[in-house]
Amino acid sequence: MSSSLIHGKYIIGRVIDNDRAEVIENGAIFQRDGKIVEIGAYEDLSGRHQPDEVLGDGSHVVVPGFVNAHHHVGVTPVQLGCPDSPLELWIPHRLAARSVDPYLDTLYSAFEMIESGVTTVQHLNTHCFGPVEPCAKNAEAILRAYRDIGMRVSFSFLIHDQNHLVYEADDEFVKRLPDELGRRMSEFLATLHITAEDQLQLFEDMHARYSGDPFTRIQLAPANLHWNSDSLLEKFAEYSERFDVPMHMHLVETAYQKEYARRRTDSTAVQHLHKFDLLGGKMTLGHGVWLTDTDMDLIAETGTNVCHCPSSNLRLRSGIAPVNQLAERGIRIAIGIDEAGINDDRDMLQEMRLALNLHRREPGHDTVVPTHCQLLRMATENSAMTTPFGAEIGVLEPGRAADMTLMRWEQIAAPYLDAEVPVVRALLHRAKTSCVDTVIVGGKPVYRDGRFTRVDKEAVLEELAASLSGPRTSVEEQRRQIARDVYGHVEAFYRDYLG
Ligand SMILES: [Zn+2]
Repeated sequence: MSSSLIHGKYIIGRVIDNDRAEVIENGAIFQRDGKIVEIGAYEDLSGRHQPDEVLGDGSHVVVPGFVNAHHHVGVTPVQLGCPDSPLELWIPHRLAARSVDPYLDTLYSAFEMIESGVTTVQHLNTHCFGPVEPCAKNAEAILRAYRDIGMRVSFSFLIHDQNHLVYEADDEFVKRLPDELGRRMSEFLATLHITAEDQLQLFEDMHARYSGDPFTRIQLAPANLHWNSDSLLEKFAEYSERFDVPMHMHLVETAYQKEYARRRTDSTAVQHLHKFDLLGGKMTLGHGVWLTDTDMDLIAETGTNVCHCPSSNLRLRSGIAPVNQLAERGIRIAIGIDEAGINDDRDMLQEMRLALNLHRREPGHDTVVPTHCQLLRMATENSAMTTPFGAEIGVLEPGRAADMTLMRWEQIAAPYLDAEVPVVRALLHRAKTSCVDTVIVGGKPVYRDGRFTRVDKEAVLEELAASLSGPRTSVEEQRRQIARDVYGHVEAFYRDYLG
């Protein structure tokens, strides 16, 4: 049994509607064994409870821990030599990147997430390729990193069975390559081969292993329409139902993906998913930049979620998601930083601020744009609902997990802030990672006074640097060469794709 009382100048329990949040001034949260027992006035709670520990001295603003609803890797593509470019051309660049130790890689971005107040992450592991055993070991290393640092994680593999190079069958694409490159590419693809059955079995094994784990959950991630055949799409609804897990699927991230869906289905990607019973509250569509009005109506009707990834959509020149139109329809919108935000890191405070401002681009006094409260809800309650943790997290109220972030209010408000500025507005415009003081997951501080409590950050970063200091391995070198050689052919494939 361990308990604590968290004392804040302001406690933001939850967002009530687009313009209001529950804020308790000089408030406190009493938690026991990781669950919130009571929330209310500090004077009242401190008189009635004898906690093992008091966290916060009444000078912080306390918010529900943020949930990064779309995350892939630690060391960023730019760090690995892969320039920002349109998504379809970014894929071969990505192929050229060297391999990073999965444990250290995961800790690297976990540092950045926690430093910006994130307590839970939707970790969408990049495609699982090749033999099952190394894929499983890789996943275990990732989950060990989250466990060691103390973060909550929903984990999934991007499940795929086709079109790995371009929006076309691998064989068809390889057939048109010059002989020698075609041969090398075939050999390379053979080393990556893994069946959809093996990927689903891996999901089942991991799901069983982590069943009942309070901090780690396993869910499904159909990779994207072009990466999934219809026979694979057929399986997901049944799996999601049988294992009672949500799904997160990249969808219509680019205009090219929209065109791919038209060519393949003579409709839209969203309409196609609907035929496979894949829309609904269990499904979150990642990106959704190129949704049509009819798609959005269908998404609203079925209660499907959308995960907004504003930085990624800008950096990979995918476009700007129709967030105002989604919000107008009452669709639940989550928010994810994807590979990295516009500062090439995982800063949820900045990602929220980017989203807040990005959708103000639509001019006009009457245009409805996301409010501060909506953004806060996206990064907490809404994102939580796209993970298997659902209503266990995302809001500060009795019965929910004690996951929260304490930020220094003086720093947000200094040197002056008009007393009438609502707390949430001030937070959304002014809070920086330097204001984040303490991050609590399941009642335990994983970050306190600006330091990680369970992992030595400096030592991990040194080890990470050392692990990448040597020359590329021969496998990495071969992969880089093949990625370079194929680049022009990928570019040519898309040249007239949009017509
Ligand atoms: Zn993604």
